[in-house]
Amino acid sequence: MMQHVFPTYNRFPFEIVSGNGFKLTDNKGMTYLDFTSGIGVCGLGYNVSKLNEAVEKQLGKVWHTSNLYESSLQESVAKKLGEAHGVIASFCNSGTEANEAAFKLARKATGKSEVLAFDHSFHGRTYGSLSLTGNDGIKEGFGPLVPGVSFAKYNDFAALDEINDQKAAVILEVVQGEGGVVVGDASWLKAVEEKAHEAGALLIIDEVQTGMGRTGKLFAFENFELNPDIVTVAKGLANGIPVGAMLGKKELAKFFGPGTHGSTFAGNPLAMAAADVVLDELNAEFLKGVSEKADFIKFLLEQKAKNIDAIESISGLGLMIGIHLKETVDVGKVVSLLQDKGLLTLSARGNTLRLLPPLITPASELMTGIEIITETLENILVA
Ligand SMILES: *Cc1c(COP(=O)(O)O)cnc(C)c1O
Repeated sequence: MMQHVFPTYNRFPFEIVSGNGFKLTDNKGMTYLDFTSGIGVCGLGYNVSKLNEAVEKQLGKVWHTSNLYESSLQESVAKKLGEAHGVIASFCNSGTEANEAAFKLARKATGKSEVLAFDHSFHGRTYGSLSLTGNDGIKEGFGPLVPGVSFAKYNDFAALDEINDQKAAVILEVVQGEGGVVVGDASWLKAVEEKAHEAGALLIIDEVQTGMGRTGKLFAFENFELNPDIVTVAKGLANGIPVGAMLGKKELAKFFGPGTHGSTFAGNPLAMAAADVVLDELNAEFLKGVSEKADFIKFLLEQKAKNIDAIESISGLGLMIGIHLKETVDVGKVVSLLQDKGLLTLSARGNTLRLLPPLITPASELMTGIEIITETLENILVA
């Protein structure tokens, strides 16, 4: 039991002490197949020699330099991240900070203050990002929040009526992660983009969970051929070293000039050294492999799900998979049962068993995990 740390997390009673590839080992010597990636972070897996070498090399040079001086590492990472989409980067240390930057830039660039966000979205825990988050439960007791934020229903065309010329921005995830692995409808996403641009509002896409190859593209919005003005990333960017980035259209640079925004640790050399290698690894061939594995696994899962009472439906994009359980099945209990069988999984809103395996997991191991899940769900009591 942890007694010297605020109890803000419900923790499972074991500790992960080491990892290799797609496997993790706990303090009791139990080895797990990992379908969490540390909540969508370690896409390239654990103890990755290329990453270790890059970070070790930087460790021996300098750990921190501040942003008073030029950084060729930041420039390299920013180019690899954004060049194909005509966006430049502002670095930070987490997903919530990336969304804070996006919120600030959208207000400054448009001279407007209102932002439209969506029900069941998750954008982070700091005040700006929390204010953009469509989950009342996690806001309780923390008010007043940042004014000017309203919410509309995700995947609902009625939301278009909420996008007017008072809006600085519309912010959304193309696949809602914490919200229950809800995939945006292509035609709806496109309509939101068009309406936002018509109204002079910026489209902010939160790719903190969906980005960095998770859906078989570097960014999930590429699956829908969208053209966001601002994109936020974090989780998978440095495979576990804390980092985030806000990417924005070059035309926005004049609103984020010297002194307008920053952070002491932003673009830290260790994080940048790791991110630089992560981005090299996420090349076209690798991403194609992710898509192929994901399609195969989803097909397999959908076939099996038809005969399993406990499963209501399957959702997802790429290696971001939601297994929606019947109301009478306790998803928390399923996660525990799976742990006992050596498989780590996650839950999300809507009684969803959420799977975020490392992107490097071979198809055969993904199948093994799916078999453990279907076997467990077949044997669970559905009242
Ligand atoms: C995790 C997450 C965040 C917050 O990132 P932190 O690094 O925890 O601050 C924001 N948006 C989405 C979509 C996320 O999944």
